[in-house]
Amino acid sequence: MLAKREDMILDELVSIVGKDNATAAKHIRYAYSYDLSFVTPKLPDYVVMATTVEQVQNILKLANRDKIPVVPYTAGSNIGGLCIPEQGGILLDLKRMNKIIRIDAESHYAIIEPGVSHAQLAMELYKHNLRWSWPVGPPSASVSSNALCHGIGGLSGRYGLNSEEITSMEVVLPTGELVRVGSCAIREDSWHSVLPMPQLDGLFKGWLGTSGVVTKMGVRVHPIPPILKVFTVSTHNLEDMTSYMVNLGNYEICDDLTGVSWWLSQVPIPYPYRPKPDGAPEWYCFGATYSWTKKEKEAREEIWQNVLDEEKKKGTSIQYADYPEEALKARTQLPSRIVGSTKNYTKMAGGGISWPGTFTPANKWAPVYNKWKEILIDHKLSPATRVTNYRGVHYGMLRAMIPFNKQSAEETENARHAIVECLKVDLDAGGIPYKPPVDFAAEINKRAHPGYLSLLKQVKQLLDPNDIMNTGKLGF
Ligand SMILES: Cc1cc2nc3c(=O)[nH]c(=O)nc-3n(C[C@H](O)[C@H](O)[C@H](O)COP(=O)(O)OP(=O)(O)OC[C@H]3O[C@@H](n4cnc5c(N)ncnc54)[C@H](O)[C@@H]3O)c2cc1C
Repeated sequence: MLAKREDMILDELVSIVGKDNATAAKHIRYAYSYDLSFVTPKLPDYVVMATTVEQVQNILKLANRDKIPVVPYTAGSNIGGLCIPEQGGILLDLKRMNKIIRIDAESHYAIIEPGVSHAQLAMELYKHNLRWSWPVGPPSASVSSNALCHGIGGLSGRYGLNSEEITSMEVVLPTGELVRVGSCAIREDSWHSVLPMPQLDGLFKGWLGTSGVVTKMGVRVHPIPPILKVFTVSTHNLEDMTSYMVNLGNYEICDDLTGVSWWLSQVPIPYPYRPKPDGAPEWYCFGATYSWTKKEKEAREEIWQNVLDEEKKKGTSIQYADYPEEALKARTQLPSRIVGSTKNYTKMAGGGISWPGTFTPANKWAPVYNKWKEILIDHKLSPATRVTNYRGVHYGMLRAMIPFNKQSAEETENARHAIVECLKVDLDAGGIPYKPPVDFAAEINKRAHPGYLSLLKQVKQLLDPNDIMNTGKLGF
């Protein structure tokens, strides 16, 4: 009797990665069928754990030949359903490819495999007094997946997005072909820069695993100056906070300049919505600065004091804010004990969390937030919102973390509806969602220039002729 197609594919996968690393067992597939977000769970047909580049190549060759969808996965913590295998197929878990191949402590870059976690990289970098821009997400999540998806961390005021820190990449294309971009394309052991060559790294950054599987990545890392000073202020509205953050951002003295609404400053985030206490400020801001000398720190303090005085003269509601020492560490340390604990975000809400996450210019933060607040409160959700400067004042992030009760289909749908409504408001104001779930991608595409969409589709077709990579995630 002929074996079923599924059995034959499983046999081939087993022959590539070994019997312990490929399975169609339902209880294992189940573990990969959902995430924290509102996106509807779906079982993959196979779960495969690769440990070498050759295995990744052979898996993609097989998938391309038989037109089987492939979802690259490292920790699945993206909170936007980006690893939900909506079309079934192969869930390709890369977390066992977790070697730190090199830390060049002189030229300040590291070469890592996709499974290297933030905690793992932090441990090694700290030995050299070096740092990376740690996100507040789970320390077990992947550094390269975060960078690939334009993730952000605690150095974004100074260096911008983590994707801007990528220096070189090795990638397996959906056809199984191995390519390199950046300096490592010219000399095998040279991983220091994507420039001055054409920026082909852009074919893989922001594509959400739809254009290839990154198997090695070079990233810039930076020295840690010894003196940390975090400037903290509060205001009664986002208009006043934006005025301060833009003013301070002009001086480029902060590694991280982040404002959080009262609801996001609570541990855990209130669910369902509850009003903040009367008189409590609505916004808090942390400006983290690092200095090499006492004098340098004093110069930063002088600039900050001048900015604070200027803002007070404008008659805004700005105040110096005292903040607990532990909470200040939470914004600069990894692992972060307060902010980055997913349980702390979600524990009032039954395990669900998702977001409208956007890049929005600072002058649009307040008008968009004020509408988000109405939408979210209307849905009984906390407006737990964050704004962050990227690279001084060049652009900014506006996002809300929305816990919800995943045990209830009704409450999950309520959160999804509110989040998509928030996204529409932001898109209409000129913002752009990042790491967008499919629902958001569809909203982006609706508004996109036809030439942009056509180019995107042509590039996708060129790289992935059988549309196997994270199929459907680009929303077309
Ligand atoms: C409470 C909480 C707070 C968070 N805070 C932040 C934050 O401050 N900043 C931030 O940026 N993020 C944040 N996140 C999101 C997330 O934790 C990080 O972005 C994380 O680094 C993603 O890594 P991951 O291993 O979970 O990626 P995954 O979710 O496994 O993958 C993310 C995407 O990358 C693709 N992918 C994975 N590996 C590869 C590969 N090798 N090649 C090609 N594509 C690949 C996947 O298909 C998917 O589309 C937060 C999450 C939570 C739960």
